[in-house]
Amino acid sequence: MPEGHSVHRLARAFSRCFAGKVVDASSPQGRFGAGAALLDGRVLLAAEAHGKQMFLGFSGDLWLRVHLGLYGMWRFQGSGLEGIGRRRHPLAEEAEFPPLPRGLVRLRLVAGRHLADLSGPTACEVLSTMEKHAFTRRMGEDPLRPDADPARAYVRLHASRSAIGLLLMRQDIIAGIGNIYRAEMLFRARLEPHRPGRELALDAWRAMWADLVGLMEHGVRTGRIVTTEPQDRSRRSGPAQGEDASYVAHRAGRPCRICGNAVLAEAMAGRTLYWCAHCQVL
Ligand SMILES: [Zn+2]
Repeated sequence: MPEGHSVHRLARAFSRCFAGKVVDASSPQGRFGAGAALLDGRVLLAAEAHGKQMFLGFSGDLWLRVHLGLYGMWRFQGSGLEGIGRRRHPLAEEAEFPPLPRGLVRLRLVAGRHLADLSGPTACEVLSTMEKHAFTRRMGEDPLRPDADPARAYVRLHASRSAIGLLLMRQDIIAGIGNIYRAEMLFRARLEPHRPGRELALDAWRAMWADLVGLMEHGVRTGRIVTTEPQDRSRRSGPAQGEDASYVAHRAGRPCRICGNAVLAEAMAGRTLYWCAHCQVL
């Protein structure tokens, strides 16, 4: 499941390479034929992410909403799209464009020499502007959006007896956090994940929010989730590699980088929660 930073990267790639252009839309697989026909020949005007949802705006007040879910992916071709999504092999100069679809492609978007193939999404639908607004109104605050308001999220967190580790995964409270950011932001705040939301102090939440924004902006820039400070890694120089990128996520049973005790893992909100019982006591 992609976390919010990767959806924002996708939206920026669409802004860069498709915005302002007439787009040919088709559904090679056939399952999205009617939706693709609605978009075909329109100008792509905007691309934005809200949490794990991406919205592409088209002329005529139409929006495409895509949620990749666990198995969805975009494949791109064209300059400016390198390293975004999952690429096909680069085209040879003389190769035909656009190439034959590979696998079950739900939606193909082509603008000039740029191509985007969507396969296996959880959601792919065309919305009116009003429907899009109704949809996003129900969503939580996205740390990567300029219109996000951490105080609004705090009201929801603070009103709940549920564990903070559970609440952080609620996309209607905070949109875009996945399993890794959840574990890492809790560790960096030294916060015990089972503490009820109602016990969270506003100052602590403001600090956690600011920390999360920084981590996710780094994720958008680099395409990677790196949450460790250089002095806490096994290799202190150079970029964080492999396991060095996180404090606790995917490190069950490994020694905590700060205290040396084994990192714990348990199920919470349907995903594995990683944490250190020694360090996270606030
Ligand atoms: Zn520890």
